[in-house]
Amino acid sequence: MSRQRVSSWGRLSDDEHEIVPITSASAAPEILAATAPGVARGMERSYGDVALNRGGTLWDARGLNRFLGFDAETGILTCEPGVLLRDIQATFSRQGWMLAVTPGTSVVTVAGAVANDVHGKNHSTRGTFADHVVSLTLVRTDGTVIVCGPSENRDWFEATCGGLGLTGLIVSVTLRLKRVPGPWLLAENIAYQSLPEFFSLSDESEAEFEHVVSWIDITTDGGRRGILSRANSTPSPHRSLPRGAAGVGATRGGPTVPFVPPFSLVNKVTLPALNRAYYRLQHRSLGSAVVHYKPFFYPLDAIQEWNRAYGPNGFFQHQCVLPRSVGLEAVSEILGLVAASGQGSFLGVLKTLGSRTPIGMLSYPQEGVNLTIDFPNLGASTLALLSRLDDVVAQAGGRLYLAKDARMPVSLFQAGYPRYAEFLKYKDPGMSSEMSRRLLGS
Ligand SMILES: Cc1cc2nc3c(=O)[nH]c(=O)nc-3n(C[C@H](O)[C@H](O)[C@H](O)COP(=O)(O)OP(=O)(O)OC[C@H]3O[C@@H](n4cnc5c(N)ncnc54)[C@H](O)[C@@H]3O)c2cc1C
Repeated sequence: MSRQRVSSWGRLSDDEHEIVPITSASAAPEILAATAPGVARGMERSYGDVALNRGGTLWDARGLNRFLGFDAETGILTCEPGVLLRDIQATFSRQGWMLAVTPGTSVVTVAGAVANDVHGKNHSTRGTFADHVVSLTLVRTDGTVIVCGPSENRDWFEATCGGLGLTGLIVSVTLRLKRVPGPWLLAENIAYQSLPEFFSLSDESEAEFEHVVSWIDITTDGGRRGILSRANSTPSPHRSLPRGAAGVGATRGGPTVPFVPPFSLVNKVTLPALNRAYYRLQHRSLGSAVVHYKPFFYPLDAIQEWNRAYGPNGFFQHQCVLPRSVGLEAVSEILGLVAASGQGSFLGVLKTLGSRTPIGMLSYPQEGVNLTIDFPNLGASTLALLSRLDDVVAQAGGRLYLAKDARMPVSLFQAGYPRYAEFLKYKDPGMSSEMSRRLLGS
């Protein structure tokens, strides 16, 4: 056990925690009982307070990071909770298997991906991470061990996938990987100039492409220009990575933001220029190309610790999904409020989410349009803006993503996640985080 300062990806706080390593699955019941209350941590790639427990225990199972078994006929992989998605992709893509669903960073643990039931650029066709989990093993603070999956203790499975680490410590996960021809994608970038154009391009793309995502320039008031990227796996004549590609999307050895600047590098002065520059850069790569999965799935992994660029006060991410029927108007309203405020960043993401109902009681995706924007933390003015954005989300019948949240009001949580009361029956009373105390009362 050691005391350490811990920040999540948004770097909004930096408090001491008691770090308790979990050294083996068999030792977990005893360690949990002796050190509860607490919550597990993964790679702290969640932006807000879901994996924080100020002054209290953080169980660290990242050392449990071994593959336990793989069936090369079926693609069924069993692994420990601290295995990184990066290692699954690198190991198995060479053998023709990859994760069916992956978020926009590969520096995420398997348990973290389950606990937030993460989604990728292919939600319409593949659903969420939990849709590909065959079973998992949980250890509770009273020593109970529960094995659950889609057809075994299904209620525990629905509570644990997207369950914010609050139903028990995950000590193993069995996943179904997806057959792929190799690590390559045939990708296409297309510019759009308005929101209606985005929607029709997105619908047309989803009929033919598995992965669809777009970058949106949040500073152009009327135009709403952006770049839509779409891709399918493809066999490729390349036998090895093209020159320079090995480092792209790599998380070791790439460029790093070396220190925390005294103020955010993204601010009112730099914001329009950063968006213009990003648009021009993307514009140069319009058209089709065969690309490695790393730059397509994980473009931000190419710059280590890019979150430091927002300066000493950190940043918020506002990620919401809005029902499709009101999506165009609600996205317009949010973008109007953001443009008028002069806040935001050059990392705006717009994508649609499909109709599949997620397994988890607290899973985020719902059918509609997803908008993600980062905001350097300027204090009261940022909080006031975020609160106005929340009002648009509430009015539209949407919800915010818990993996990115550090401050949503309880009313918005309860309206967006109506299964929260059912979830409480499965919450381990010995598990507690900043987020659970804020939104679930304990
Ligand atoms: C650049 C970037 C891009 C991203 N893109 C996406 C995206 O496209 N889609 C998406 O859905 N998300 C995305 N995310 C969010 C990220 O995928 C999730 O926050 C993910 O859950 C982080 O995993 P982690 O290992 O860092 O876990 P942490 O953030 O440390 O913890 C997340 C949750 O997992 C729980 N947990 C960790 N280990 C265990 C365990 N052993 N047992 C039980 N619970 C455990 C924690 O208690 C916590 O509730 C992105 C994040 C970044 C930084």
